[in-house]
Parts: sequence; structure tokens; C-alpha cells
Amino acid sequence: MSQRTHSNSPKSGRRLVALALGLGLASAALGTAVPAAAQPAAAPATTAVAGYAHYAGSAQESAANKAFFDAVLQSVAKRQAAQPNLQSVTVYYSTAQAPSFRSQISSAASIWNSSVSNVKLQATSGSADFAYYEGNDSRGSYASTNGHGSGYIFLDYAQNRQYDSIRVTAHETGHVLGLPDHYSGPCSELMSGGGPGTSCTNRYPNAAERSRVNQLWANGLAQAVAKLAATR
Ligand SMILES: [Zn+2]
Repeated sequence: MSQRTHSNSPKSGRRLVALALGLGLASAALGTAVPAAAQPAAAPATTAVAGYAHYAGSAQESAANKAFFDAVLQSVAKRQAAQPNLQSVTVYYSTAQAPSFRSQISSAASIWNSSVSNVKLQATSGSADFAYYEGNDSRGSYASTNGHGSGYIFLDYAQNRQYDSIRVTAHETGHVLGLPDHYSGPCSELMSGGGPGTSCTNRYPNAAERSRVNQLWANGLAQAVAKLAATR
């Protein structure tokens, strides 16, 4: 059974990960088939996440998150500067490189679109401000830049089976909108990410996170557009 053919259903995914972790397998080995009937009872998944980079992070990730937001903001600011009469701010994304996460990505976009008023997320098959990718990475899921000023979100298969996949996707999308990580926060915060553990399934930003995003896209974008105008 390859990673790609695994169901993305959170329930079956969690059972599989719980089984693999109970056997003490490294996340890298999750792609190998484990005959369920031949194995001993699984340990609770929540106890076995150490050593596996969940969507919890480091200073390096925090810098990557910032660079990512700057890249998205620049991309949107360029469009806004070119079309100053645009009434609303839209961030366009591509799912072409993350086909098995289209439903989670769409849910994450709806969650954010119903939570904030100063910016909207919209899928496009044309030119996007950032893109989602999928694959296997021991670091888990993250937001980053490609080194040429373009932002992307990477969704890791194993992590998305271990944790609530829509929460992971909505969390990473929170970085698109400018929010930093806050792993010590409670489950009611979206940006606490993997901090509250695999049992946390809250997929919505709290009031403070919503208000921060609205602020960033009102003031932050205006500043980015003004800066672009000043350099012309
Ligand atoms: Zn994060």
C-alpha cells in the first residue's frame, strides 16, 4: 500500500497511524504495509508523536512563515497596485500540486472566508499568489518560499492522517493570512497547531486570530501597496 493510495479519511487514517506508532515505527516507515491482523494492540496515538515533526516548530520555521507571508502580500499588493479600483482583496491559490487535499483546502478556505472580512481566499487554475503541495516530509506540514519570492504550503501525508486534516490545512492557511505559530496556545486557537495534541479538532480561528488577520489585510496590505507605489 503506497502513501498515495491511502484513504485521506481522518478516521481510517488515524487508526493506521495509531497502529504504526504503536509498533514503534518511524514516520518514514508509514508507507510500508502493516498486516493489521498479525500485529499486537496499538498504543494511543497521542503518546507517540515525539521525534516526529508535527505542525509544531522552530525559529527557522517562524522565519519561513514570515517570508511566506511577505511573498503572498507582495503578490497581492502588485495586483492591487495595478488595479487600484479593486474593492475587495482576494488571495488566489492553486491546488494543482495537492490533488488529494482539494476537499480539505476548500474547507479551510471556506472557514477563513466566513471568519474574516478584509481578505478572501479563492482557488484559481491561472496565476496564483501561492500554491499547495503534497507529499512525504519528516518535518511535517509547513509554509515556506521557493527562494524566488513565491510562497507555498506543503501538506505532509502522515501528519494529515495523524492530526485532523482540515485543522492542519486551516492552520497552514493561517500563515498565508499572516498569523505566526503559537504552539503553547489552547485547542481553541488555530495557530496552536499540533501543540494541543492529536485529539484537538478545532478548525476555526478564535476572535483574536480573526481580528489580527483583518488588521493585517487592512493596514499591512495598504503599506505594501504604498511601498510599491513609492518605488515606481
Ligand atoms: Zn504553523
